[in-house]
Amino acid sequence: MRVAPHSINSLYIHLPFCDGRCRYCAFYSILYDASLADRLLRALAVELALWQEQGLGFNLETIYLGGGTPSLLTPLQLQGLGRLLAPHLARDVALEWSVEMNPGSVTPARLAALLEGGVNRFSLGAQSFGEPVLRLLGRRHSAADITRSVAIMRRAGVANLALDLMAGIPGCAPDTWQHSLSAALALNPQHISVYALTAEEGTQLQRAMARGQPVPQSDAEQLAELDLAENLLTAAGYARYEISNYARAGFSCRHHCACWRGGEYIGLGPAAASHVGDLRWTNAADLPAYLEALENQQPPPRSWDPLTPEIKTLERLICGLRMSAGVEAALVTDYVPALQSLCGQGLVELNGTHWRLTPRGRQLADYVAVELMVTS
Ligand code: SF4
Repeated sequence: MRVAPHSINSLYIHLPFCDGRCRYCAFYSILYDASLADRLLRALAVELALWQEQGLGFNLETIYLGGGTPSLLTPLQLQGLGRLLAPHLARDVALEWSVEMNPGSVTPARLAALLEGGVNRFSLGAQSFGEPVLRLLGRRHSAADITRSVAIMRRAGVANLALDLMAGIPGCAPDTWQHSLSAALALNPQHISVYALTAEEGTQLQRAMARGQPVPQSDAEQLAELDLAENLLTAAGYARYEISNYARAGFSCRHHCACWRGGEYIGLGPAAASHVGDLRWTNAADLPAYLEALENQQPPPRSWDPLTPEIKTLERLICGLRMSAGVEAALVTDYVPALQSLCGQGLVELNGTHWRLTPRGRQLADYVAVELMVTS
């Protein structure tokens, strides 16, 4: 398939390397290998060039380096990534360039390479400050590593720090969850994400839970954790701008907000998804196939999903409702009967010109999404 010439403002790069496998992980990742990482960086340059040959221009306002664990790349490799993207950075708009890092792989040399390239938002996967919980999740760092990593980041001059926490972990006692929230707040990040654990099919944790150990949290326990997060984080001055994301004023993630509002983005790397115009596509989650294609100057294997106007509106509605700003009512007029029904159940509300979830609706966001899907 071909994509019409376009100017692209948002870029995602998937760097699939990790130093092990978390027990809950369903992302595409493999063990870090230096020579594979070098080949991947060369292949990313070819993938970018092939898009330019098709007429895509890159004037990047937001970049997101995800994975995997991008912070496993060496400083030299991170510098190479900076050089690759430097010609494509927007000059007239403030750039937001995020990178995901894991505690244990944060070093002054890596941070210097990232900062020099223009990275200005650092997202640290903390997940929990409880040692038994970290072990149950199969994380390969301690709570002390999180604190140490943040200290290294602050010394390096990181001014925009995001911490990820995970709620709803089996066996996580309420006081451990409260401790994780308090410990995260004590590090004074600009942004905190709180995602509820989902037992994805095929993960080690899902298989263990299917065998009965550990016992999953009940819905009530999980909701209590999410409520506690909202209470503590909003009391500390963070706004819940999206159902799973809290930020101090001016520190919402622009990259994710653009995607949730239906914005276009190109994803480079194995397993990366893209959305341009009426098309969405995903590169195969297969590093060898990705490298082989691009080393022969060919696009990597991809699956394509045409986006009809109906699908785009539904996605815009579901993502928009998850944001505190809501979704413009004028964009979703086809859904008024379904929204009014959800309104009658106390799950959504019309706030002037925007539909948004009520507090009860935020607790039942998955149910709301399913109701909207079945009526579409
Ligand atoms: S660090 Fe992230 S990508 Fe890597 S195994 Fe853990 S959850 Fe998966």
